[in-house]
Amino acid sequence: MPPSMDRHTFINGAPRSSHGSKSHQAIDPSTLEPIATIHTSSETDLDDVIQAGVKAFPTWSSTPAIERSRILLKAAAILRSRTHELAVIETRSTGKPYSETSQIDIPTGADVLEYYANLVASGGLNGVCVGIGAWNYPIQIALWKSSPCLAAGNCMVYKPSEFTSLHAEELAKIYKEAGVPDGVFNVVYGGGDVGAYLTKHPDVAKVSFTGQVSTGRKVAGAAAGEMKYVTMELGGKSPVIVLPDADIENAVDGAMMANFFSTGQVCTNGTRVFVPRSIKSQFEKRLVEKMSYIRAGDLYDENTNFGPLVSKPHYEKVVGYIKHGIEVDKAGLLYGGLDTEVLTSRLPEKTRKGLWVRPTVFADCTDSMRIVKEEIFGPVMAILYYDTVEEAVKRANDTPLGLAAGVFGKDINQCHQVISQLEAGITWINTWGESPAEMAVGGWKQSGVGVENGRKGLEAWVRNKSTLVEMGGEVPTVFTKVLPSKL
Ligand code: NAD
Repeated sequence: MPPSMDRHTFINGAPRSSHGSKSHQAIDPSTLEPIATIHTSSETDLDDVIQAGVKAFPTWSSTPAIERSRILLKAAAILRSRTHELAVIETRSTGKPYSETSQIDIPTGADVLEYYANLVASGGLNGVCVGIGAWNYPIQIALWKSSPCLAAGNCMVYKPSEFTSLHAEELAKIYKEAGVPDGVFNVVYGGGDVGAYLTKHPDVAKVSFTGQVSTGRKVAGAAAGEMKYVTMELGGKSPVIVLPDADIENAVDGAMMANFFSTGQVCTNGTRVFVPRSIKSQFEKRLVEKMSYIRAGDLYDENTNFGPLVSKPHYEKVVGYIKHGIEVDKAGLLYGGLDTEVLTSRLPEKTRKGLWVRPTVFADCTDSMRIVKEEIFGPVMAILYYDTVEEAVKRANDTPLGLAAGVFGKDINQCHQVISQLEAGITWINTWGESPAEMAVGGWKQSGVGVENGRKGLEAWVRNKSTLVEMGGEVPTVFTKVLPSKL
């Protein structure tokens, strides 16, 4: 680890001491130990950073596309060569196991950078764009936003979540080392007020936001005041439909990935698992057996695949939902629950104080339960029984959210039929969670506006300009006769 992980506004290629006095501690969620001081960017910092982008824009946007491509490809190569150190930072900052950050977060983030470096755009560009990130996939979100933004010739002011801020300066330094000019990628720190200031700023052309639906509403509302372009990647409460002919083993694996990967802190989580009443016993028996494959432990042990939750407020929220599920919703607690001692007693001594919850499964849930309706964003699965596939589809769609959905079954035609009826932007058949760079992802209904990744993702970072050139030399006109004026 570098000697100091403290963070200051990153402007024009270097960190600069903040003009403000506010700061907070970044905490390691597995030990609750403070790891760095994050200095909040003041309004002066924010104005300066946006002006740095405004100043850098003419040069970066007029850099030949192929040269931008070379620079970004170099950044992707540097990023990959630093996978280990970046993964350690992400693990300390988020509490995710190293097996996950080193194999998923960093490599898939680098994939997206490489993808857009090869797909550079030219044409009508936006200018200075703001990226605002959630805490769950810190560097990956930063890359999903900055790669197409920079590839299209725009500049970016990036604000990571106040809970997981450490990655952003590392990324800024990588861009600089690769040859991205100063002022093109800048980083600011702080919470909602910093995000809100950026969103309203008149010199910002576009806001790309990832976070909760309630925050997204505020961000889109503020951006609408100046008609800024927005992209919204928001929350979900996604359904998994296990069809009657599904391979139980496969369906259980999928449901577990959809609920317990990253300790359930994934926006596309398939938290409502619809199981045919006829096979519920087989499904639940195998699921409970396989729950022992979830291994909490030393986050740097390659066998650990389950970490703590990210922050104290989030821990309290998730524990509150589990409590509500048991005491108020009175759902059937099939596995897990509030007795975290069972889990923490097996952990290394230094991590026992961490923000651990047990992976939890509620069976026999109903559609009206709070744990079934609201996004928990933790390792909490709700199993719902159904009698007909038609009924399952109808109930799966009965939510204002529409981020992801999945189907498990042997009859691929039936799987396609069901997927085509599900109201969601990201869907899977007989698998869950993969999101390669070329796959556009975005939510339907209240889960989002626009998409990230894939060819479509680039469109959000360029403006359309249509030019019609008349080749015949005459303007088509209806004004052909001189008539007495009526005026
Ligand atoms: P959040 O909405 O609390 O915060 C997200 C970001 O917005 C943070 O950087 C925060 O500081 C900032 N912010 C807060 N108030 C703001 C305001 N008024 N104006 C501008 N910025 C403001 O979300 P979170 O708790 O960090 O993240 C979890 C949520 O993100 C979940 O709902 C999850 O589903 C969602 N998410 C969605 C995707 C996706 O691709 N659809 C990906 C990851 C996470």
